[in-house]
Amino acid sequence: PDVRPQKVVIIGGGISGLSAAYYVQNIAEKAGLPIELSLLEKDGRLGGKIDTLHRDDFIIERGPDSFLARKWPVIELSQELGLNKYWVATGPQAKQTFVVHHKKMHPLPPGLMLGIPTQWTPFLKTGLISPLGKARAALDLILPKRKETGDESLGHFLERRLGREVVGQMAEPLLSGIYAGDAYDLSIQATFPQFQQLEQKYTSLIKGMMISKQRMQQTSRLPAMAQKSMFLSFQGGLSTLVKALASGLKRAQLRTQTAVKGLHKNESGYRLQLNDGQTLEADALILATPAFVTAQLLEEPELRQLLAPIRYVSVANVVLTFNQEDINVPLEGSGFVVPKKEGYTMTACTWTSSKWPHTAPEGKVLMRVYVGRAGQEDIVKQDDEHILSIVQQELRELTGLNAQPLFYEVNRWFQSMPQYQVGHVERLEQLTYKLNMSHPGLFLCGAGYRGVGIPDCIGQAKQAAQNLLAYLTK
Ligand code: FAD
Repeated sequence: PDVRPQKVVIIGGGISGLSAAYYVQNIAEKAGLPIELSLLEKDGRLGGKIDTLHRDDFIIERGPDSFLARKWPVIELSQELGLNKYWVATGPQAKQTFVVHHKKMHPLPPGLMLGIPTQWTPFLKTGLISPLGKARAALDLILPKRKETGDESLGHFLERRLGREVVGQMAEPLLSGIYAGDAYDLSIQATFPQFQQLEQKYTSLIKGMMISKQRMQQTSRLPAMAQKSMFLSFQGGLSTLVKALASGLKRAQLRTQTAVKGLHKNESGYRLQLNDGQTLEADALILATPAFVTAQLLEEPELRQLLAPIRYVSVANVVLTFNQEDINVPLEGSGFVVPKKEGYTMTACTWTSSKWPHTAPEGKVLMRVYVGRAGQEDIVKQDDEHILSIVQQELRELTGLNAQPLFYEVNRWFQSMPQYQVGHVERLEQLTYKLNMSHPGLFLCGAGYRGVGIPDCIGQAKQAAQNLLAYLTK
């Protein structure tokens, strides 16, 4: 007898939604399960936060610029899509990053792993930390481990092990930069659970990091390029991945400019209300939208209460391009980070064309300055000229750079950086449990839940796709 194809809908066309659609399509095909697949995206283009602009032979990333190479989901997906031949590694200058300390540039000592020292000699030599601060960090070797194994903030955890100075000067600017967050507000279990595990296993975080670094180097099966370069991107920019996913979705209907306005459960499945007044039926679906959008779409107050508090911070970045000959100062390393207590508006700056040589034509320079973080979001609302003038003034103060850019772009990302607050992991457990009970066949994935980076978004999407197919075939 004819089997009616199952209707599967993916909401959201960022990297999470696109990967989810890709895996649903492929797993269903392998299982011989007929499905009718649609992906609905509110904006006029696919990719969400991933947005590469090609202008005057520059490759400009408005959002993310690379991915962490040691994470498997993105490596596997790149390989499956045949994109590994387009991988680009960082240039030699990427190895050195600077940090602003008392308004001056200091090189971060070699051997830092996620801001944690894993080599003693360079750490003991650095002028970034006072002798007392170094002695305090070394106490990590003998301080007992925490007895409770529940969640705590990333900042408290690091301060407990390494002392306030190492946290403020090295660990916090690097780690909370990833989330544009406040380390004392972020959950250790949701951001860097491995730190907590290392403390439980080795007592000392530094010792644990040293051992795990060695193990990682010995046992890595990653492709050579991913072993050499901490981060990777693609020759044509990150939208290479978006384009390949979209063209790989041969049997799916990809609908841009289609926002889901309402979602209702009925006897046979779900009915979606779209912005153009149409409705769409689904037997199963994946919501790959930001948590605050998902909170609005789900009707049950209990689910809303779990989703709505997942807070997102607004950030912006300013892309500046120059003629090499106009640059009057040496651009050392890959750029620098600015700890909060230094009192600047900018949070970090990347000499993009030094770190990623493929992004600028010969004789030109590309850089990107970041503004906005938890507690300092107002700047994002200012107009372009205002943001530019602050950035230029601070660049002048910190580096002496006073060249005029060829052109610039201000990229604003309102409510874009999820903050995994203390208790986040438990919140997700409750959410998953309640959702399974109340909304069978409906799954969530995306940056708001189990990892903000591109690889983690892909990993979550694959898991959601597997769960959805298991549901349809049970
Ligand atoms: P999104 O990309 O936000 O996609 C969600 C999609 O849902 C959007 O396209 C949205 O339009 C759509 N949508 C919303 N509402 C509806 C609706 N009602 N109906 C239909 N569609 C809807 N990660 C890295 O790994 N490396 C980096 O270098 C890096 N740098 C970053 C720099 C910046 C400035 C930012 C903002 C993030 C960065 N990240 C980085 C994080 C990473 O880019 C994001 O977490 C990730 O791309 C999010 O993907 P997503 O698909 O979960 O969400």
